[in-house]
Amino acid sequence: MKQMPKKFENREALTALIAETFESVLIEGHRQPSPIQGKVMSAAELAECIQPAAYARTRNFYDGAVSRLSPFVRHGVVDRKTLARIALAGGDKPAEKFIQELIWGEFWQHIAEGDPRGLWQDAEPYKTGFSARDYASELPQDIVTGTTPNACLNHFIRDLHGTGYVHNHARMYLAAYVVHYRRIQWQAGAAWFLAHLLDGDAAANNFSWQWVASTFGRKPYIFNLENVAKYCGNQVDCRPETNPELDASYEVLSARLFPEHAL
Ligand SMILES: Cc1cc2nc3c(=O)[nH]c(=O)nc-3n(C[C@H](O)[C@H](O)[C@H](O)COP(=O)(O)OP(=O)(O)OC[C@H]3O[C@@H](n4cnc5c(N)ncnc54)[C@H](O)[C@@H]3O)c2cc1C
Repeated sequence: MKQMPKKFENREALTALIAETFESVLIEGHRQPSPIQGKVMSAAELAECIQPAAYARTRNFYDGAVSRLSPFVRHGVVDRKTLARIALAGGDKPAEKFIQELIWGEFWQHIAEGDPRGLWQDAEPYKTGFSARDYASELPQDIVTGTTPNACLNHFIRDLHGTGYVHNHARMYLAAYVVHYRRIQWQAGAAWFLAHLLDGDAAANNFSWQWVASTFGRKPYIFNLENVAKYCGNQVDCRPETNPELDASYEVLSARLFPEHAL
């Protein structure tokens, strides 16, 4: 087997070699490395990323005060306890929301450790009026290439392919689009995310997909263009004419997406 060099003059030389070696798997238009660079962070640097009060107010907004620390948590550079301690330094109350989210990560991990075989299986039937057999098993090409009919979703797909980081709300939109708008099994979408996310973690990822799908929850999660515009509109193209599939009321969408089971 060909040995890869281990020493490089600079980062550009390293990325050039990787691009050349893995040419066949690079996605058109995304040949640059992620702008997120791995590093060890000091406590002061971590504290700069965590603003608990602003987090609680704005975390659902695309440009909200989220920490963007998940790749570092995923790869063991920092643990959730340390992040909780930093958040609590500003007082219990402001830290509440941030700590709740950290606990979700812990919760998914415990469930996966208790039953690793359950990671890729539907925990329960879909509550959409459809059975698992009604969902396609492959992602269509327009999703894989970020050329769906909807500009806002293509923007989030560019985030995924280009940076390996996607805002939580955008992850929910993409997952709901894949499963409910396009009727594709959550497993296909979960595998796609895991191939690109720098924080890709089968427990948090797959159970979140199942929650959106309704196989790990009481009802399917859906969204419409008005919701995307409210949370992402100042950063992302949310015009009705460039997002035709999403521009409808929840009533109309529920009837269209779940004709057997209007919500
Ligand atoms: C469909 C879907 C797929 C997801 N896939 C992953 C994944 O592969 N890996 C992953 O770590 N998270 C995943 N999440 C959860 C969440 O989106 C990310 O943890 C979060 O967006 C990471 O960004 P951040 O570091 O800015 O988070 P912040 O909001 O700043 O949160 C701080 C830390 O708390 C943890 N965290 C926050 N929200 C969640 C959550 N809902 N579930 C679990 N942990 C959370 C993360 O470690 C994060 O770094 C997924 C969510 C959805 C809806």
